[in-house]
Amino acid sequence: MKLPFFLASKFVAAETLEATLPVAADLRSQGLRTTLDLLGEYISDPTLATAAKNSYIQLVRNLQEADGAIDKNISIKLSMLGQKIDESFCLDNVHELLRVAKETGTFVRLDMEGTDVTESTISILEKVYPEYPENVGIVLQAYLKRTAEDIERVCALGARVRLCKGAYKEPAKLAYQDMPTIREQFLEHMDTLITKGKFPAIATHDDILIDATRSYVKTNNVSPDTFEFQMLYGIRADTQKAIAEEGYGIRVYVPFGDMWLPYYSRRLRERKENVWFILKNMFKK
Ligand SMILES: Cc1cc2nc3c(=O)[nH]c(=O)nc-3n(C[C@H](O)[C@H](O)[C@H](O)COP(=O)(O)OP(=O)(O)OC[C@H]3O[C@@H](n4cnc5c(N)ncnc54)[C@H](O)[C@@H]3O)c2cc1C
Repeated sequence: MKLPFFLASKFVAAETLEATLPVAADLRSQGLRTTLDLLGEYISDPTLATAAKNSYIQLVRNLQEADGAIDKNISIKLSMLGQKIDESFCLDNVHELLRVAKETGTFVRLDMEGTDVTESTISILEKVYPEYPENVGIVLQAYLKRTAEDIERVCALGARVRLCKGAYKEPAKLAYQDMPTIREQFLEHMDTLITKGKFPAIATHDDILIDATRSYVKTNNVSPDTFEFQMLYGIRADTQKAIAEEGYGIRVYVPFGDMWLPYYSRRLRERKENVWFILKNMFKK
């Protein structure tokens, strides 16, 4: 059964690129930066992975044509570009996309997915970064026990990191499970990234982490132009605007496309009130 899109519309801008571009332009006009994510993941058919790469190239071209009205910044999931089919096929797809990104001055963030692809995602970044240092960065997840080492590795490379808590279900052997420890890890990594990373992104809606980052940067006289906050489309929109008004950079992650179900399910899992919202709407006449 395909759920109706209006349910997902709280978190997903639109099902088409055409309808998403005005949403991104509107956020931009409110002083918010954006990154666009064409939804889709864990693709097992090479034809679909090639089609996804072509759609991403088209997206980059559309952002170029928008001529400054929309940020040239996108987020991609490597499992959509064939990572689980064959890593070298995926690498070729990433190269092809990054060539167009370089030509158009677009930044491409490699989202981080489950632990089955963590090592592969970092290793693909390491392979492409030297050729596209201004065009590619990665995401690292505070809940993973390996992340302190990964941060050192990515900082040594010089690549930009988005730090988030982590959204996938992972076993206790690999990931911290309790919120106080995850927050503690997040703040340690925030400190490392702000101290020695390249323009890190602090991606969270958690007031404890946002406030701690604010006080860290004030105490240490860190200039607001050396990092940014990031939040997801549809979550805490008022806080997003308030952070921008305070003079911090804030980027909204804007997902779109018709393959929205896995992304949407992760957002539901994060907060039980969202499930009530769905149930209420499903049974409304
Ligand atoms: C820009 C961005 C990019 C991300 N990229 C990745 C990625 O590549 N890989 C990955 O694993 N994870 C990614 N995430 C997701 C992240 O890992 C967390 O799962 C998610 O952000 C929830 O954690 P939180 O820190 O916002 O805090 P939480 O403690 O979950 O939330 C704090 C508060 O924010 C609000 N809130 C949070 N989530 C919701 C929601 N779903 N609905 C309504 N309100 C909510 C609530 O008020 C809540 O009390 C990304 C998150 C952001 C912001």
